[in-house]
Amino acid sequence: MPATALSKRSIEDLSQDELSGKRVLVRADFNVPLKDGRITDDTRIRATLPTLRYLLDRNAKVILTSHLGRPKGKTPELTLAPVAERLTELLGREVTLAPDVVGESVKSLVLGMKPGELVLLENVRWYPEEEKNAPEFAQQLADLAEIYVNDAFGTAHRAHASTAGVAQYLPSVAGFLMHKEIAVMGKALEAPERPFVAIIGGSKVSSKIGVLQHLINKVDRLIIGGGMIFTFLEAQGLEVGKSLVETDKLDLARELMRAAKEKGVEFILPTDILVATGINALAAEATVSVNAMPADLMGVDVGPQTIERLKQALGDARTVIWNGPMGVFENPAFAEGTRAVAQVLAERTSQGAITIVGGGDSVAAVEGMGLADKFTHVSTGGGASLEFLEGLELPGVAALNAK
Ligand code: ADP
Ligand code: MG
Repeated sequence: MPATALSKRSIEDLSQDELSGKRVLVRADFNVPLKDGRITDDTRIRATLPTLRYLLDRNAKVILTSHLGRPKGKTPELTLAPVAERLTELLGREVTLAPDVVGESVKSLVLGMKPGELVLLENVRWYPEEEKNAPEFAQQLADLAEIYVNDAFGTAHRAHASTAGVAQYLPSVAGFLMHKEIAVMGKALEAPERPFVAIIGGSKVSSKIGVLQHLINKVDRLIIGGGMIFTFLEAQGLEVGKSLVETDKLDLARELMRAAKEKGVEFILPTDILVATGINALAAEATVSVNAMPADLMGVDVGPQTIERLKQALGDARTVIWNGPMGVFENPAFAEGTRAVAQVLAERTSQGAITIVGGGDSVAAVEGMGLADKFTHVSTGGGASLEFLEGLELPGVAALNAK
């Protein structure tokens, strides 16, 4: 965990004078899902509103930049026009879409802005220089503004021109969304209230190695769920049938269990499992003990005994980080483990515990159950929150000014 995470400047550290009448470049994550040119989910746009309203209230000139999809050069289909339209509705203020990202036309447009106006630059990934973090391109972006605000936590793990490079040329601070992400997760990792419990699930050990290795040094209890359960069970010599197993990670699994023992971390694996013919089966064939998994079936969710054990392990937790669903939750027949964990955590939150959910699928599961607002924090960044939990320094955070 980079010790600097909590020590970055945020927009609240800027005085009224530093913002009033100033051109402020805001990196947002407007990479929204689109269908036939229409936005199907505007969560990411809404998430940036507190930062935008704060800047507008202080008479800033707000210049917005974001990527959208993966364009190869100037792809007119991947325009931010739908975002400009939606943002105009949400803010009740005209958001002008710039004809380009950088260049003379954009420069003159932003130089003509009045306080309280908004301009949205076109898709920053129209320029390959963005992902290459080309210094000249970063400088061109910086030339448009006087201050830089990064509110795009979801892309903070990428060292791109608009997420990191630009910060070299301007005073650079975190927006509200970015600040909340690094403050809540940073506190949990640096100074958690204990007991501190992590629940790590999802499909594969391989995608969570870094998180497991980092958190094992931090937590009091580590709960394993999802497809990765079976690599740990096989590593203990158990039959796991047709379950997902990464045979090249068996040694690593044994190492992690040994490390937990050494450090006095309670390592909690399921004791019973729902087994089925496949992830799309209509129902489970049976609930079995982990010592008696049939050779011809696969594990798809944790069983009721395990759920009781998890409730117990979470009952007195003061800080909980959850990354990765407990089972194949997309199938309603195998969603119970994930639902139970979500419900216990919602309850723990209401009793004062700090609860954090990260990971694209885990967040989707919690949202699908209508429980997202019952957690202390639901991270907006899949890959970024994973890297944060691995203790890696995110380039987009590192680039911001220290307090
Ligand atoms: P996140 O996006 O929250 O980090 P992952 O991407 O690591 O989570 O994993 C989510 C996927 O893991 C889901 O699609 C889910 O169906 C799958 N999964 C969970 N349990 C199992 C299991 N027992 N067998 C196979 N896949 C599983
Ligand atoms: Mg995922």
